[in-house]
Amino acid sequence: MKQAIIGYHKDDENDWVAQLHCGHFQHVRHNPPFINRPWVIEEAGRLLMLGFTLECKKCDLGAPKDSY
Ligand SMILES: [Zn+2]
Repeated sequence: MKQAIIGYHKDDENDWVAQLHCGHFQHVRHNPPFINRPWVIEEAGRLLMLGFTLECKKCDLGAPKDSY
């Protein structure tokens, strides 16, 4: 299910995590050359991606909402 990004935080390993509208969290790592999300490095890039939708597998699975 497509869900919009409403915010971000970092996890214990300093990786960026997107907070989705549905209440689920999803990693948005920039780990080249395998995972390329250079936009996540800069605050301006992250702000630009607010409202962008990601495919949320947790919704498809009916997973409970994530929390910190
Ligand atoms: Zn979800």
